[in-house]
Amino acid sequence: MAVATTTKTPTPSRSTMPPVATVYRSADGALHHARCASRMDFMGGRAGLELDFYCLTCCEHVTVTPYVLTRLADAAGLTPARGR
Ligand SMILES: [Zn+2]
Repeated sequence: MAVATTTKTPTPSRSTMPPVATVYRSADGALHHARCASRMDFMGGRAGLELDFYCLTCCEHVTVTPYVLTRLADAAGLTPARGR
């Protein structure tokens, strides 16, 4: 008789979350696309849960949550911004 077992996947804590690789914040505070390093235009928010940005160089739409913005590294890519 087979016995089903469940393995509990550990939930990552905020300190162990992987770095954000899609966008980064430049020294002037603007959001830039990591793929092409172009400044991204803010298109708007949806229900306060998602923020939409658009890269004119790649013609790519990027959606992030407000929480992601608090995790962005600074221009040097070394220090994540302080979250709440
Ligand atoms: Zn781009």
